[in-house]
Amino acid sequence: MTTTQRSWAKTRTTESGTTEPLLMVRDLEVEYRTKRAIVRAVDHVSFDVFPNEVLGLAGESGCGKSTIAHAVTRILKPPAYITGGKVMFNGIDLLAMDEDNLRGFRWEHLAIVFQSAMNALNPVMTIGNQIIDAIQAHMPVSKRDARTRALELLNTVGIDPRRIDSYPHQLSGGMRQRAVIAIALALNPELIIMDEPTTALDVVVQKQILYEVQQLKDQFGFSIIFITHDLSLLVEISDRIAIMYAGEIVEVAPSQELFRNPKHPYTQRLMNSFPSISGPKQVLAGIPGSPPDLSEPPTGCRFHPRCHVKIAGLCEEVHPALLEVAPNHSAACHLLDPEVAP
Ligand code: SF4
Repeated sequence: MTTTQRSWAKTRTTESGTTEPLLMVRDLEVEYRTKRAIVRAVDHVSFDVFPNEVLGLAGESGCGKSTIAHAVTRILKPPAYITGGKVMFNGIDLLAMDEDNLRGFRWEHLAIVFQSAMNALNPVMTIGNQIIDAIQAHMPVSKRDARTRALELLNTVGIDPRRIDSYPHQLSGGMRQRAVIAIALALNPELIIMDEPTTALDVVVQKQILYEVQQLKDQFGFSIIFITHDLSLLVEISDRIAIMYAGEIVEVAPSQELFRNPKHPYTQRLMNSFPSISGPKQVLAGIPGSPPDLSEPPTGCRFHPRCHVKIAGLCEEVHPALLEVAPNHSAACHLLDPEVAP
């Protein structure tokens, strides 16, 4: 097998021809357990990622976005534990997979790009050797073939291949992040999780890298879970966006639909708190209050202490279900539930 071949079919289709999800997450629960408290950072979260789709995950810091990324890739470390749910990847149960199989599975089928390239890269190895290592750890190829692939990958992500023998500290922040993306692409995975991949970069480099990621996705056909707190960025790159609040998904919709017609009061507030890169100028407003302490989350709707339109006597008591409120658009708010709202 050459290094550029996939060892696995990238997509499967049902008999009717509709595409099945590549990744299905159902009722995922993750807890941080310390002597002082149990914090449920992810609470019954469900979502799908389809082949060649970019799913954005957005929300304030601490809402559980990165914990989901670490849970799906099974790189959570104690005191974090997956306490419930299912993660199915192309029909394979990732939560039931043993460590040996997981090691082979990661990078080959499912890769992750972290926020800080400097932390993700080994400072005492050249970027070329880091890519070669990733390839040879999963494929029986010669060092020469792996180096040829590394040169191709550097070119693909916009790094001059002559930089293959550079150390991370010899590269700019943007180039380091591109090198991390090259490592993620090395084995041609079907899904790449990008956790705040451009947060540490300036706006111009950020835009360039996002543009390149989209081109790579179209070229190679992988799917992306793109995690960020920056909703304006997400609207540009994502096909669909899931909004998280306090460990739960509170709204999911196609990105343009969410941008034009946010239904959940939290999403509406989140939209108003970011400047739009391409839309009209508007007065920005923050969201009053702060996210709750998840060791003692609010009763009922977790957003109720900060919600400007809460229904007294209901929102504090009853947890709202995530319901379809328009085609392909779901939200968890009593105001949107015809059976509950007054
Ligand atoms: Fe606000 Fe109630 Fe809707 Fe929660 S359920 S977002 S508190 S209106």
